Amino acid sequence: MSATLPLLTVDPSTPRADAPAPPRPGILDVPPEQLRAWLAERGQPPMRINQIRRQILANRAESFDAMSDLPKALRTDLSSSFAVFSTRVERHLVATDDTHKLVLRLHDDRMIECVLIQDDGRATACISTQVGCGMGCVFCASGLNGVVRNLTIGEMLEQLVRLRNLTDANTTNPDRSPRLTHIVVMGIGEPLANLEDLLAALAVAGDKNGLGIGARHITISTVGLPAKIRRLAEVGKQYHLAVSLHAPNDALRTRIVPTNDKTGVDAILEAADEFFTKTGRQVTYEYVVLGGLNDQLEHARQLAGLLVGRKSHVNLIPWNDVEGLPYRRPHDDDLQLFIDTIRRAGVSVKVRKRKGSEIDAACGQLRRKVEAETNQKVTENTEGGEPEKRT
Ligand code: SAH
Repeated sequence: MSATLPLLTVDPSTPRADAPAPPRPGILDVPPEQLRAWLAERGQPPMRINQIRRQILANRAESFDAMSDLPKALRTDLSSSFAVFSTRVERHLVATDDTHKLVLRLHDDRMIECVLIQDDGRATACISTQVGCGMGCVFCASGLNGVVRNLTIGEMLEQLVRLRNLTDANTTNPDRSPRLTHIVVMGIGEPLANLEDLLAALAVAGDKNGLGIGARHITISTVGLPAKIRRLAEVGKQYHLAVSLHAPNDALRTRIVPTNDKTGVDAILEAADEFFTKTGRQVTYEYVVLGGLNDQLEHARQLAGLLVGRKSHVNLIPWNDVEGLPYRRPHDDDLQLFIDTIRRAGVSVKVRKRKGSEIDAACGQLRRKVEAETNQKVTENTEGGEPEKRT
């Protein structure tokens, strides 16, 4: 974790950590009927709602004042009642490969992370869906303190908009995209535990008047909640489903993924099969490789046995170190044997790319570090010291 931070640079344009939190509600979370009424009180037509949303979603406006197609008085009124963003950037890290990580502070002072990954002409946003996570996977930093709450539709959209605004709209570099092209819902939280609001946020992301990112370019990663996988299959969208399997049998999976106790591998695979039948979209099985725990030949054989004949793909993710947790990455030869065994059985398999890995390695941990630092700052303040300044 902290060992990876020297690889990162802090963007000097990062808003100061000690800037006051916006006291006004974020406009993306104001229900349309409430906004319509607010506008009507000021003699403004409902079409202003679309204008405002277009300004934020398409035109990259980050203040009401920048919305030049709105009357000046309305912009002033909007600024005193609402905020364009309800979150603020607590930390902004940029890796050498142009991967950006944002730690966002929410209106209730909770923090989440989101990441922009840029390569091969793609720009991918990785977003969080909850504050913390209730799934308790033993190797993961996000769930170490449990779940606090679901994110709102606006908080999920804000992550996308803020990351999109970091792409260079005027780039001429063929490796860079001027707009967001993909979304992976693989940040903090269990997406299917916040499914309805996530779907509402993704519908805006997919709209041509929103961010214009088609469902086929959106991956939803889940710990494996069978009923919710079925519900997702019914939505009739071409989302890509990734299931975090991590073990090929119930005994081992329940040790690594405690929720497996209630679901079991079979029910998850059945639900995923149904997803494939209904959507025609091949399911990806994610498998975090934990050295000495789930990376042995017998595990590879069992995994291949489960997936052979299923239209699926395996994504192996060598474990990223989480400070304080007693796991390790697999040895290279164990990993290679694992890959070969699965491949020989005819199952498609890849090891997750190391792009942006120095930030990936800190997944879910940066938030914890910033929270810890902030708590310390509060203590220092209480003791009358000056708050620590960051650049
Ligand atoms: N709750 C969702 C999203 C989690 S994040 C899910 O379980 O799928 C996306 C992926 O990263 C999951 O497969 C998760 O298990 C994995 N992951 C979490 N912490 C990790 C770590 N320290 N190293 C490698 N992969 C990790």
